[in-house]
Amino acid sequence: MNIQGDPSLDRSLGTLVGGKTADRLRSELQIATVGDLLGHYPRRYDQRGQLTDLARLEPEEHVTVLARVVRAVTRDYSDRRRRGRISKRVEITVTDGTGELLLTFFNQRFRLAQLQPGTVGYFSGKVGQFNGRRQLLHPDLKLLDEHTDLDEELETGSRARPALEAIYPATARLQTWSISSSVERVLPEISDVEDPLADDFRGREGFVDLRTAYTYIHRPANLAQVEAARNRLRFDEAFVVQIELARMRAATEQLHAVARPRRPDGLLDRFDATLPFSLTAGQREIGDLMATELTYDRPMHRLLQGEVGSGKTVVALRAMLQVVDAGGQNALLAPTEVLAMQHHRSITTMLGALARGGMLDGDPDATRVRLLTGSMGVRARREALLDVASGAAGIVVGTHALLEDVVQFADLGLVVVDEQHRFGVEQRAALTQRAGRKRPHTLVMTATPIPRTVAMTVFGDLETSTLSELPAGRQPIQTTVVPAADRPDWLQRCWDRVGEEVERGRQAYVVCPRIGDGDDESDLDERGRPRPQAAVELFDQLRSGPLGHLRVELLHGRLPPETKDSVMSRFARGDIDVLVSTTVIEVGVDVAEASTMVVMDAERFGISQLHQLRGRVGRGGAPGLCLLVTLSPAGSPSYARLTAVAATSDGFALSRLDLETRREGDVLGISQSGRRSALRLLSVLDHEDVITRARALAEEIVGEDPTLHAHPLLEAAVRRFASSRQSDYLEKS
Ligand code: ADP
Ligand code: MG
Repeated sequence: MNIQGDPSLDRSLGTLVGGKTADRLRSELQIATVGDLLGHYPRRYDQRGQLTDLARLEPEEHVTVLARVVRAVTRDYSDRRRRGRISKRVEITVTDGTGELLLTFFNQRFRLAQLQPGTVGYFSGKVGQFNGRRQLLHPDLKLLDEHTDLDEELETGSRARPALEAIYPATARLQTWSISSSVERVLPEISDVEDPLADDFRGREGFVDLRTAYTYIHRPANLAQVEAARNRLRFDEAFVVQIELARMRAATEQLHAVARPRRPDGLLDRFDATLPFSLTAGQREIGDLMATELTYDRPMHRLLQGEVGSGKTVVALRAMLQVVDAGGQNALLAPTEVLAMQHHRSITTMLGALARGGMLDGDPDATRVRLLTGSMGVRARREALLDVASGAAGIVVGTHALLEDVVQFADLGLVVVDEQHRFGVEQRAALTQRAGRKRPHTLVMTATPIPRTVAMTVFGDLETSTLSELPAGRQPIQTTVVPAADRPDWLQRCWDRVGEEVERGRQAYVVCPRIGDGDDESDLDERGRPRPQAAVELFDQLRSGPLGHLRVELLHGRLPPETKDSVMSRFARGDIDVLVSTTVIEVGVDVAEASTMVVMDAERFGISQLHQLRGRVGRGGAPGLCLLVTLSPAGSPSYARLTAVAATSDGFALSRLDLETRREGDVLGISQSGRRSALRLLSVLDHEDVITRARALAEEIVGEDPTLHAHPLLEAAVRRFASSRQSDYLEKS
């Protein structure tokens, strides 16, 4: 995808590079237009003359070498595809004077004649390993005249090549030299491409213009030019994102909301009076801030970050009560049904009589807390909808079912989105747009801490607050990696530990990466790896084996909602000792006596996910224990990730580590559909200064010209970026 605004970049490549090449570019790299191709930046640059150093070949790299054949032999091998019949393999050894390389061809005996000793050529392919030797299997080749002098060709060939040769991300079927010659054809065609960045701004920032940037990045004369081009193009990436966000903020500024000022002696005051603990300083501070924001007739747009267990729910509930006191309703949106049910239960419990509106034992001022999920029975649903429409329900808890049109609020004042990392900018918009001209206030909560620059990029339409301290008395969680492959006896020790905890009156979670209820029967996954532990199977094994003496139950997402709810509430009551589950318990579930968590095949989970999961234990009086069971060998990268999770409880550090191991597109919640992200040069983790400057310029421009009327190229670029994101989003859901 190209994020520049000039429509001339949308020209298709067919007429410029030839139909066959154009087809190949599209099928191999999703490159369809001039802009796509110019946006396919080189991965690195080779200095002249270094191209063919056989001594320096790296495994797995697509390379091109210039070399001379020294030996050519055929060998017999037993061909499995032809039921073990003996076939011929041609092995060609080439050298460039610095080292040797093996070229291997199966069933291509003509290569023997073609590649006689003395033959000189360019050979291209992916470097592999065979019997301890570097090899190219079925390389592409371009042979030169047999009398060619290798050194001379290196000289003249490289004189014909630029000083720095761009090496492109390539595939086995589309080599870097073919991409390079396509770029060569296309570059002269953009002589009058229009630059969306104004001259004076470019001057101020020392940026080269767009055409120069494209030339420098593809055909640099020196590394300084590469740097200049990257600086400019990297800024562009940050800039479109920030323009889009600045426009969203500007649009929000124009919106009206109903002010929900705090009413003395209302539900909020009564709730505060009965709170069994005192709020932390952070909870109080953010609470005050939001209390003030809710008194404005501008919609509040706030992101609340805080570690697992930092007490975000209480903060949200207090804001919701203020809205109820002012006559409005609240929608609390959770990512899963289990979490919605959990919220519903805990809010109802916390409010006590204050939540029993219209009932005999209810408080005269009380409101109602209603649950609304997709799989509710028709009658329960109708009742809930009625309370929502009449305004009797001051707090409505649900999943995305709350976004459906049939859900009509009498007066929606505040939308709270819990565990934000599953929702994107677009879903947020969908929810708040429904309220018509008057927008509800919005509070978004996330337990995945986000580095500042990521927050500025992903949540740039929100103001951010962070709860940085945990409530007093929170217990530390000890995390241990259990290498089940090397030490099978340790797994038995895990179950013993679970038994010991239960004997002390505590409870345990056992988390598995998949359900295993028949929908995913084969033992291998689509990539041919063994499937990870299934909850259903482990549940059976534990019940009839090591945990047979305990009350063990199963919880996963495909159980009927009533079953899920009943299992969760029995676990919360302490009627279940061990809960074998999938990640349905990942977020928000809060059972004080749960002290132990065993995570099976832990390497299958992401870093932040593991951190979230273990946040479920150590919430009561007992210290938490988390056992990460893995078959990954010690020393492997996945084992190292687990060790990192075990070594720190700093959510920010882990979040950063997590983000570093993921692609930028994933970080931004875009482009997981195989199409590549529009962000190639920008790293939201590393380029804070670029993002800050882009944000400042975006503010300046949008401030003067919110519709971008005077900046049509920018407008086009942002539209393009937004629509690519939108379509990714649709594909994802
Ligand atoms: P989060 O949603 O941030 O993970 P919760 O809001 O679920 O955290 O809070 C976790 C637990 O801590 C709950 O049981 C809650 O009642 C309790 N809690 C919240 N604030 C405090 C506080 N200031 N002091 C003691 N306990 C608190
Ligand atoms: Mg929570």
